[in-house]
Amino acid sequence: PEDQPEPDPNKKTLVILGTGWGSVSLLKKLDTENYNVIVVSPRNYFLFTPLLPSCTTGTIEHRSIMEPIRNFLRHKKAAVKFYEAEATKIDYEKKVVYINDQSEIKGDISATEVPFDMLVVGVGAENATFGELRALPISIKLTISGIPGVREHGLFLKEVGDAQRIRNRIMDCCETATFKDQDPEEVKRLLHMVVVGGGPTGVEFAGELQDFFNSDLKKWIPEIKDHFHVTLVEALPNVLPMFSKQLIDYTERTFKEETITIRTKTMVKNVTEKYIEAESTGPDGKKQTERLPYGLLVWATGNAVRPVVKDLMEQIPAQKDSRRGLAVNEYLVVKGTENVWAVGDCAVANYAPTAQVAAQEGAFLARMFNNMAKTEAIEAQLAQLSEAQEKAPNQEAREKVFQEIKELHKRLRRVKQIGPFQYSHQGSLAYIGSDKAVADITWYAGNLATGGTITYFFWRSAYLSMCFSTRNRVLVAVDWLKAKVFGRDVSRV
Ligand code: FAD
Ligand code: NAD
Repeated sequence: PEDQPEPDPNKKTLVILGTGWGSVSLLKKLDTENYNVIVVSPRNYFLFTPLLPSCTTGTIEHRSIMEPIRNFLRHKKAAVKFYEAEATKIDYEKKVVYINDQSEIKGDISATEVPFDMLVVGVGAENATFGELRALPISIKLTISGIPGVREHGLFLKEVGDAQRIRNRIMDCCETATFKDQDPEEVKRLLHMVVVGGGPTGVEFAGELQDFFNSDLKKWIPEIKDHFHVTLVEALPNVLPMFSKQLIDYTERTFKEETITIRTKTMVKNVTEKYIEAESTGPDGKKQTERLPYGLLVWATGNAVRPVVKDLMEQIPAQKDSRRGLAVNEYLVVKGTENVWAVGDCAVANYAPTAQVAAQEGAFLARMFNNMAKTEAIEAQLAQLSEAQEKAPNQEAREKVFQEIKELHKRLRRVKQIGPFQYSHQGSLAYIGSDKAVADITWYAGNLATGGTITYFFWRSAYLSMCFSTRNRVLVAVDWLKAKVFGRDVSRV
């Protein structure tokens, strides 16, 4: 593409927010020649989230699962503008997105606005800390800042920075626990690694952490080997609720063998600098509150709606009953709007907030936008032809134009034949540690539930093949090999 050409006034401006699974999968398949495409995201890379838990322990280096958006966009047919900024507000009436450069280096202008004809919201979700209790009226919602202490003392696992923070914190805990004359109780606390949330993020992280301890930490720092302990806390009666019963049991058994403690029916209510307070239900049904001291606390309790999305929802009356994000119709149009679509974790379309769903939604929108452009081109051609038909000098010429119109109508019908979005579930996969994985795979009409080491090799090859680029694939494979041969790097940076 040419270097930053001016927007073509004959084309519509399509603004895409976010560079995650939904937006990037849309961009991959979008014919960028049809629109003036503008991408806005605070992240100038795509992140392959399924392998993020492996970055917390150094099994994989984070840059191996990042793909620079600039590198990807430069291969598109027509130039796409990218602004590294956060969308702070979407004004639906004015058709404008307000953007803000949140990075450290700021130019004279760090906040401005981007007008759009069409808008795709793919900003994902933020971490739930349950400040956003869903049934509460907005005025009360704003006064609650979540389970106390989570934001101050807990670490999340969503972005690259989170994984780096966790990796450093693990090592900090180990080094501090071995500090001269440390009190034995304090050593125990520092080496207690608590993970809150038994969804796939919490389970995968707990598995990776125990692996790190088993294969590297206990050899390199033998003093910690009797005290390092991983506990997974889950409010519901079991972990991994989206997996089949046999795989839940398998995961719980594997964790037990690996000495990871699972505390189900235990709801964390308060977090302080050194301990969490959790309410658990005993076998007699009685509730009790206890304190669990920790050194590392990873908070993985799922998703909450981003403020920019909440604000947009408040502008649209048809969104007033939606709580978990932008309610969309079967064509992913945000209900109550025209020319605004939503994909991925910020959209509510009755599917789980997964990469699989976001990627399919993005690809669907690309097909739809490509078709919309084709439709418009055919309709313009048809308008020209009907004029030509009227002006035709004789019957023969009229007949010729008539045949062309007929052909075009046929093409138009074919192009317009895009059905609503239908999600095709390929299955669920999760790594559970000690070279084991669980998989619920959709197999013809049925479901195949499998867990173990063979599933782990399947998990590895599936994720390797799903990596964004060949470069990512090579880097991930090399990281796996490096970790096996030399052990993981325990330096704290
Ligand atoms: P994201 O991928 O989160 O992307 C959102 C984008 O929007 C980002 O680029 C972000 O920087 C940008 N953004 C944020 N705020 C703004 C703003 N104000 N303005 C503009 N841009 C903004 N799913 C699976 O199917 N399989 C898995 O194995 C799997 N593993 C996971 C492991 C982890 C650790 C995590 C956290 C999630 C995992 N998921 C997995 C879930 C999956 O990552 C999400 O469902 C998916 O990322 C959603 O895609 P998205 O495009 O909606 O959002
Ligand atoms: P989740 O919503 O799947 O799980 C969060 C868990 O935290 C829930 O089980 C909830 O009961 C528990 N919880 C909430 N508050 C709690 C509290 N105060 N105390 C104790 N437990 C509490 O969240 P996730 O694991 O981050 O996953 C988010 C999304 O990403 C899901 O859709 C998931 O399927 C997807 N994902 C998929 C994979 C995979 O396929 N391998 C991996 C990671 C994430």
